Amino acid sequence: MKAIINGRVVLPTGIAEDMALLFDEKIVGLVNPDEIGDAEVIDAKGQYVLPGLVDMHIHGYLGEDASDGSIEGIRTMAKGVAKNGVTSWLPTTMTVSYDSLHAAFKAISTVMEESKKDDFDGAEIMGINAEGPFINASKKGAQAADHIRACDPEFIDQYASLIRVFTVAPEVKGNMAAIRRIRKEHPEILISMGHTSATFDQAEKAVRAGVRHVTHLFNAQTPLMHRDPGVVGCALTESRVSAELIADMFHVNKALFKLVADVKKDKLVLITDCTRAGGMEDGEYTLGGQAIFVKGVECRLADGTIAGSVLKLNEAVRNVHNSYRRLPLHKIVKMASLNPAKAIGIDKTKGSIEEGKDADFCFADEQMNISRTILRGRTIYEA
Ligand SMILES: [Zn+2]
Repeated sequence: MKAIINGRVVLPTGIAEDMALLFDEKIVGLVNPDEIGDAEVIDAKGQYVLPGLVDMHIHGYLGEDASDGSIEGIRTMAKGVAKNGVTSWLPTTMTVSYDSLHAAFKAISTVMEESKKDDFDGAEIMGINAEGPFINASKKGAQAADHIRACDPEFIDQYASLIRVFTVAPEVKGNMAAIRRIRKEHPEILISMGHTSATFDQAEKAVRAGVRHVTHLFNAQTPLMHRDPGVVGCALTESRVSAELIADMFHVNKALFKLVADVKKDKLVLITDCTRAGGMEDGEYTLGGQAIFVKGVECRLADGTIAGSVLKLNEAVRNVHNSYRRLPLHKIVKMASLNPAKAIGIDKTKGSIEEGKDADFCFADEQMNISRTILRGRTIYEA
């Protein structure tokens, strides 16, 4: 048994101070510090103790990309994101060829197995996020047009045990029927609309067909206009739908963080949408086979199109916290832990500091700098 003392423990409902957090592989519970018995003591020295963060949309990190099909690359990413407090993640593929996707899924599934073992020193892989190729070319953003295709339920069937979420443009011919079929046959898979030119009515119809999530809200979708509310209007008004936000202060103006947080509440999910340039210097990289140019927080294609990010999930929490000071921190932390865990159906074991769940934590200072990450009771990163 281990005990974290002197931490400000961030729970789903608030922050517990002056309590000790007892755990082995699972969370045992909060007790008074004089009740920890002979548990091994870890002193949090006044830092926040957050639930391990959950990044459900991340393409790359430290020069590696989930679409590369490289086992070593996925391992590097798993170790890298652990330094940002992430304990659960979904390697996220781009719109690439089926051959590339088959190879990428194979590599991810190999490292996913490894990440369940006790000698793995990276964040646990909970499945795959396939962002495309079932999107609309007119809203392709930084996705490669050559590999876009109609939604293919048989592809989803083939990888149903691996795919946790995939993005689809519901307005493309045949895709609405495919959504209905996939929702019926694989209700555990989260269907997200994104890279879509759907009207508000089409988006509403898609929700009725089974869509329950919106890929990077505001980006690569029809905007909110007062007579034509678009996919954004559907995402904001439809309570069954969760929505992703890239809170890097560039993809979405920070003035909207309050609006989105107030409207979506526990259905708002912070993501990174990070590319292989994450954790690296400014310069030229690739994303889904296309060159991207990175300067500060901005990643763009040669034509200026915004192409992913270099955001870290702990920074996303910090950015929302600093932009919306009146929202309690525990509610913002949920956006990067319990909310995504619920969206992808892993909240029985992940996403919050609650008795019986996996002992996944990270220690953070006021600015959300991470000093330690713990996965299933083991320290996998220490600064
Ligand atoms: Zn993405």
